Amino acid sequence: AMADKTFKYVIVGGGVAAGYAAREFAKQGLNAGELAIISKEAVAPYERPALSKAYLFPESPARLPGFHVCVGSGGERLLPEWYKEKGIELILSTEIVEANLSAKTLKSASGAIFKYQILIIATGSTAIRLSDFGVQGADAKNIFYLREIVDADQLVEAIKTKKNGKVVVVGGGYIGLELGAALRMNNFDVSMVYPEPWCMPRLFTPAIAAFYEGYYAKKGVTIIKGTVAVGFTVDANGEVKEVKLKDGRVLEADIVVVGVGGRPLTNLFKGQVEEEKGGIKTDGFFKTSVPDVYAVGDVATFPLKLYSELRRVEHVDHSRKSAEQAVKAIKASEAGKAVEEYDYLPYFYSRSFDLSWQFYGDNVGNAVLFGDSSPESATHKFGSYWIKDGKVVGAFLEGGSPEENKAIAKVASVQPSVENADLLIQEGISFASKV
Ligand code: FAD
Repeated sequence: AMADKTFKYVIVGGGVAAGYAAREFAKQGLNAGELAIISKEAVAPYERPALSKAYLFPESPARLPGFHVCVGSGGERLLPEWYKEKGIELILSTEIVEANLSAKTLKSASGAIFKYQILIIATGSTAIRLSDFGVQGADAKNIFYLREIVDADQLVEAIKTKKNGKVVVVGGGYIGLELGAALRMNNFDVSMVYPEPWCMPRLFTPAIAAFYEGYYAKKGVTIIKGTVAVGFTVDANGEVKEVKLKDGRVLEADIVVVGVGGRPLTNLFKGQVEEEKGGIKTDGFFKTSVPDVYAVGDVATFPLKLYSELRRVEHVDHSRKSAEQAVKAIKASEAGKAVEEYDYLPYFYSRSFDLSWQFYGDNVGNAVLFGDSSPESATHKFGSYWIKDGKVVGAFLEGGSPEENKAIAKVASVQPSVENADLLIQEGISFASKV
């Protein structure tokens, strides 16, 4: 066996949360050699959302080192040299295959053993694959998933070799919508297929979705709803040629991209730590049920104070903030101090074509639509409020200015009372600006 390596703090996973945790450790004070980040990926932490957006642009695409953390939130860009300067060990291209939380050890695929005093689990999610459901031909070449930079590089390669070809996007969530747009911008003939009656059903109302579906159609994207891919035709080279749909239709395809959801990577810790709602259960300081073990980002199921409920959130803003909260809590407890419990306001966003939306709060209760949501509109500025028990609890805005986005964030956190939903519709964004 290889020699043991011991660290005071180990972060397993080198994604968004790991990068923001490293910055917070440095801010709070860290001695050289105390912290290691162990990552399966070959590169230092980066802003993952770029992979389905600017990374795929036909003109001047984003490339590393351009989008290392923490540029996505307007912070300093942490290059590999930064970690070196701070004495943080970046252990890359290293997959942990075994975790022993009682012995406080991790084992890599090549047999290296890492010991820690405090562990932060930041393994994120993995893409759910069609082969998991036994879809016939799902292992064919040119069927892509997008989670890590290696996946994005394969897709970029296929975009070059299948120039001006046909793409089928499987899935109508935000990854599907962003990839559909990116491939259309690369001049592919794009069809999107999803089983639900409208796109992004977990967040969008039918009225919100109608705008995006109309806009995509206007951009030349074909949308096929209410059916699923049940198989693929593969040629002699093992490359995908056709997508077979459940409703009997067959779509030609040079490239298939699949975005059908994610699954948190908790396998390493199964049976060793308490789980809840598919993730690792934590308190408001991201402490798990095991002493000295924290979980942050996509894998954490934490108390969402605002809604008095345990939730798991698979979005970048939470991955950053949960990582910072965990490090603050670790450092405070070492100093015999306390930090405030995590008090998170859910925030998601997406961008595609020349569109950009933000959402804050909770999409529960009754939704009302305001603004001009016609796909033909020149401004395409519209939004929605969600009203529950007479209060506005969630707000969505397409095409908002920075000030307007701030205003809807405030609405979702203040939860103002509303008596008259019609008035809310009439006032639209100006309602938020007054809160
Ligand atoms: P990740 O950033 O996924 O990092 C996990 C890291 O752990 C990876 O480096 C992985 O390789 C590593 N790892 C996993 N298992 C092991 C192991 N056993 N050993 C070693 N290393 C391991 N959210 C938004 O809010 N807005 C967006 O627009 C948006 N766009 C996105 C676009 C794409 C293509 C993807 C994939 C996600 C997007 N998200 C977006 C979601 C957001 O990126 C995630 O919520 C966020 O990255 C979660 O951070 P994390 O650190 O928990 O996990």
